[in-house]
Amino acid sequence: MLLPNFEYIEPTTLEEALRLLSDMGGNARVIAGGTDLLVRMKLKIEKPSQLISLRKVPGLNQVIKRETHGVSIGPAVTAADLARNEFIRDKFAPLATAAGKLGAPVIRNRATIGGNLVNGRPAADFPPACMVFDAILKLKSATNEREILVGEFFRGPGETIIEPNELLVGIFMETPAPWTGGSYIKLGARKALEISMVNVAVMLTLQEPLGPIVDVKIALGAVAPTPVRAFAAEQYLMGRHPSEKVFSEAGAIGVGMCHPITDHRGTMEYRCLMIETLTSRALNLAYQNALAWKP
Ligand SMILES: Cc1cc2nc3c(=O)[nH]c(=O)nc-3n(C[C@H](O)[C@H](O)[C@H](O)COP(=O)(O)OP(=O)(O)OC[C@H]3O[C@@H](n4cnc5c(N)ncnc54)[C@H](O)[C@@H]3O)c2cc1C
Repeated sequence: MLLPNFEYIEPTTLEEALRLLSDMGGNARVIAGGTDLLVRMKLKIEKPSQLISLRKVPGLNQVIKRETHGVSIGPAVTAADLARNEFIRDKFAPLATAAGKLGAPVIRNRATIGGNLVNGRPAADFPPACMVFDAILKLKSATNEREILVGEFFRGPGETIIEPNELLVGIFMETPAPWTGGSYIKLGARKALEISMVNVAVMLTLQEPLGPIVDVKIALGAVAPTPVRAFAAEQYLMGRHPSEKVFSEAGAIGVGMCHPITDHRGTMEYRCLMIETLTSRALNLAYQNALAWKP
């Protein structure tokens, strides 16, 4: 399969990239790692006449730790870089785990967090992991700038609210409170090079060790047209003391938030069972990690 002809442009500043995107209208596409876009171009699903590369735009591939405000992640940071970043592994464990489970090493070395979010696939690994941190996405065009909660970014399979003249330029997350633990579980038929059949991310905060749950976020992927938060399960857990029974009840409630489909990866019934089991398992894991919290 050959790629169609296109012009490849490497802007060297953010302003230049935004101006090019605005001048070229709907015919141009941004390219980060290319692991989604080039496949779609080979399959002739997309035929952009210009590709605007983010490779030489400074500052987009950095993870910046902010002492008081958490972390700022550039959209061009790769899955491999996130998976091995010590600060991300320590304070944003579900994100590091999701990064380490995406594709295989050769894909992780190119695939970016920005490309994964903008691609808007319901089964993608990064969206649930960002949703449990209530990540803020910064979108910029040549004339405008706006910030949006990651949970409001997705519209449907392959659809997000980003405009053709906008770039995702940053992803911001607050450092979780003390006694918080997180987890990410991905279910697929294989251990690598597999798109999720179901995935679940959890962040859980205890008032104190062995105290009640004072904050919890559960996000699921591959269970609806967009990744979803299991709000009803979160509500059920608030103020309760962690136990296997409570987590398993939350898993059962979580199923009610999902509308999984039957496809070649799994049936709707199997996915529902897995939502329940994996949510409960992810909550247990997050709880264990909360107990092991270190400043
Ligand atoms: C073999 C293989 C295995 C895979 N396995 C997985 C997997 O396990 N889990 C998973 O979630 N995904 C998987 N993927 C999909 C893909 O690798 C990821 O979605 C990846 O993170 C996309 O990032 P990218 O940098 O390659 O995006 P690109 O292909 O460069 O871009 C994807 C889309 O995002 C747009 N875009 C990119 N960056 C920006 C930006 N900053 N602002 C605005 N628009 C932008 C592009 O225009 C394009 O529309 C796999 C792909 C392949 C080929």
